[in-house]
Amino acid sequence: MRGREPPVHCDNCGRMVPRNKAVTEEKRINLGTEANEGNIRFFTSRKVYYCISCAKHRGIFEKKKQQAQRAAARGLYSKY
Ligand SMILES: [Zn+2]
Repeated sequence: MRGREPPVHCDNCGRMVPRNKAVTEEKRINLGTEANEGNIRFFTSRKVYYCISCAKHRGIFEKKKQQAQRAAARGLYSKY
């Protein structure tokens, strides 16, 4: 199904990109500090969107390539 994708803002430069063209990355945010509540740590993950140029700049494409290679090694993409 291909519909019209709502545009999203690039997290780095604020540019509007269609969602299917934006590069997504799962970002982990540490909410706790070492000062509060001893060893309790809070993590939350947020999806961030980057435009193509920012993704290139941050090397996210390389990461995706590595992930794809790892997945291929596991045999998930057997159609290739
Ligand atoms: Zn950008």
